[in-house]
Amino acid sequence: MSKKYGNIINGSWQSPSHDVEFESMNPANKQECLGRFVESDKNEVDEAVTAAKEASVKWAGTPAPERSRLIQEAVNVIDERKKELAELMTKEQGKPLAESLGEINKSIAESHFMIGEGYRLYGNTVPSERENTWAQTVRVPVGPVAVITPWNFPILTPLRKIIPALVTGNPVVIKPSELTPLTGLKLIEMMNEAGLPAGVLNAITGSGKTGQHLVRHPSIRAISFTGSTQTGLAINQIAAERMVRVQAEMGGKNPVVIWDPSDLQAAIQQTVSAAFLCSGQRCTAISRVLVPRSDQKLIEQGFVEALTKLQPGDGSKVQTTIGPLINEQQLNKVEGFVNRAAKEGAKILTGGRRLTDGEFQQGYFYSATLVSDVDDQMEIGREEVFGPVLCIQPVDTFEEAIRLSNHTEYGLTSAIFTKHLDLAGRFVDSVQSGMVHVNHGTTPESHMPFGGLKASGIGQGSVGHITKDFFTDTKSVYIKYS
Ligand code: NAD
Repeated sequence: MSKKYGNIINGSWQSPSHDVEFESMNPANKQECLGRFVESDKNEVDEAVTAAKEASVKWAGTPAPERSRLIQEAVNVIDERKKELAELMTKEQGKPLAESLGEINKSIAESHFMIGEGYRLYGNTVPSERENTWAQTVRVPVGPVAVITPWNFPILTPLRKIIPALVTGNPVVIKPSELTPLTGLKLIEMMNEAGLPAGVLNAITGSGKTGQHLVRHPSIRAISFTGSTQTGLAINQIAAERMVRVQAEMGGKNPVVIWDPSDLQAAIQQTVSAAFLCSGQRCTAISRVLVPRSDQKLIEQGFVEALTKLQPGDGSKVQTTIGPLINEQQLNKVEGFVNRAAKEGAKILTGGRRLTDGEFQQGYFYSATLVSDVDDQMEIGREEVFGPVLCIQPVDTFEEAIRLSNHTEYGLTSAIFTKHLDLAGRFVDSVQSGMVHVNHGTTPESHMPFGGLKASGIGQGSVGHITKDFFTDTKSVYIKYS
């Protein structure tokens, strides 16, 4: 039987206090169970939050540069042990090993920027209305923070929240996704072993029910969440009743416009990579390609050729470029979207089926799929699929491309490939998305704000300098010196 893991509270592993548990499985091999985990109940959540609360005064009082030094040591350990962490992530999440390593390297780069922010927790000095008085603002930590994360980026998303929370002086309780709990726990174990003070970083496992206990806990003062828009809404409602702030990064239905680019092959390659990394299970995955009707056939041909070169398989094999979906439920969901699109009149140009032969029958594999003749009324043109499916939407005018880009409830990221500066400028000004890329895919940088508009995000975005605003309050201080 596989090993059973407890929570990590006050820097040490806890023995599970009850028998309610769940398993984490390898999505490339349904037979392989990676571990059993506690469905943490209200008492276990309380233990973790109490530990964070007890650590908060000392952590807030530790000089910010010293906090950053301690956090840097934890990140150094992640860097030293990243191969081990990447192998585990690939087993538990399914993405190819090169992608797992890439994710960890990106997390480290983002952490480096944020650790430096420990020296830049600036306030303002302003002229006072009174004589002999200094008037200034200072930032103070908001209090213990709840971090709730999904399964698609089991290292990047937790670190994107944990590091800024800790740098700004807030202890953390994290609940990683119930589908990738082991990668989450290993990360927290490593960071604690690196010497973070006890209670500053705690982890509890469990499903959405455990998440609800955490969100409702009266000592939690801020909630940083990434996941579906539906869950984000539910969390925000509970938080609003308690007047607790929420930073929520949610779903996307991201468009790319390909309109007379200087290099069509490069545009196709970058779009394919933005669409199919992590088997399309990314909030920033490009899922719609808007093209002039006159170029449709040529562009489609380029995409079909690029998709047939993708190599599906177990992510731990070097030749694999596209791994399995996370579980049976996700596989059924993706299959349902594609089948309904075909019934609505869309054309499946390549893919559009489960992979079940040979080694594929051990996991949850779906072929890289290109769906064409999608219009704005079709479900697949509006809803987030979260799988290896790319849609082509032909349009007659550039205005229509902009209108359709904005024709969903989401507004996370977008891209345009064109050699016309005026079109690029119009797109940047008009597209309703929190991030916009001209002439490259949707991968964001390590020091730039990350977040969405509309149903894709609320609260300050994460990454970059703006995330400090979420994790701190402002205090106005007046000092009359004579
Ligand atoms: P999910 O919303 O089902 O779960 C996310 C986390 O929330 C999990 O840890 C889950 O246990 C927890 N949870 C579920 N219900 C809860 C509740 N009522 N109260 C508190 N916690 C609860 O999402 P998922 O299936 O894990 O991830 C896929 C979704 O995440 C997609 O919609 C994707 O677009 C989105 N996502 C967004 C970003 C972004 O940065 N915008 C990044 C990655 C994923």
